[in-house]
Amino acid sequence: MVRRNESNAIISKKVARRQQKQYEWERFKKRIKGADKELLQKQLGRCLGRVFLYAFLLVIAIYFASYVKNQFFENTEAGVLPASSLVYSGSSQDDVASLNSGELANSSDKGLIKSSKVLVVVDPGHGGRDPGTCYDPEKLYEKDIVLDMSFKLKAYLEEEGIEVLMTRTTDVELDESVVEDLAKRVAIANSRNATVFVSVHVNSEKDKSFKGTQVFYCGTEPINGLSSARFSEIMRDEFDENNKIPYDGRGKKDFKVLRETNMPAVLIETAFISNSRDRELLKSQDFRNEIMKSSAKGVIRAIQEMGAKKINDQWTID
Ligand SMILES: [Zn+2]
Repeated sequence: MVRRNESNAIISKKVARRQQKQYEWERFKKRIKGADKELLQKQLGRCLGRVFLYAFLLVIAIYFASYVKNQFFENTEAGVLPASSLVYSGSSQDDVASLNSGELANSSDKGLIKSSKVLVVVDPGHGGRDPGTCYDPEKLYEKDIVLDMSFKLKAYLEEEGIEVLMTRTTDVELDESVVEDLAKRVAIANSRNATVFVSVHVNSEKDKSFKGTQVFYCGTEPINGLSSARFSEIMRDEFDENNKIPYDGRGKKDFKVLRETNMPAVLIETAFISNSRDRELLKSQDFRNEIMKSSAKGVIRAIQEMGAKKINDQWTID
């Protein structure tokens, strides 16, 4: 019995040891599982944290990029045009660089002109803290050149009895924000029901070989019988006829001042300040007079196509 008992005791010790091992193994596994879970949770947390951080940074980057693009676009709109892909050289080539999706949406807003009295809004680009494009060695600024030119255009039109309103008459910006500045120019023309809108600018390009006068428009739908595209053709013809103007082409461009004005509108890039020949032209009063005289002729032809007539020294549209 003793032997048997001893044997039993040995067996139960073995069983107990096995159970103990089993128990420890289970505990060990639980511990490992727990540790894995914690580790997994930590890693997941870290990973999610990173995802949120990257998403946040991405949103900031997109917002910043769109802000920069907006600012650049509006600056570009106001003068420094990448001429190469937008403008066709020579007057024989007509339409058109690119369609823009905003145009159709905007075209329906452009109603008939309510006021029958002709009013031309002349918009000298830039001003104040915004010099536009410039030629530093001679302190030659677009904002000054186009203001002088715009006064000439105003004078030529007034000589013919046409009422003119300028968006600025001094060296000022219309708003601290470039976008708002342009919006105010548009608002001046729209709120006064202007008959046509003419924005005057100076061009610039890294490639100094670019030269010549260019005309831009946006809308192709007729407003009171005249589309902006047709208006730009009329201007082209006038520039082309005057051999003192180095006419280079016209193009379609989605500029704010062209897109959002409710009347036929053109933007004249009078010459390239970056080109030495054009720069001399821009400095000369002769050229400034010639190009604005031709612009005035173009404006008169344009409003005539809209049905404007001069009766008792006043231009009106029936
Ligand atoms: Zn400009």
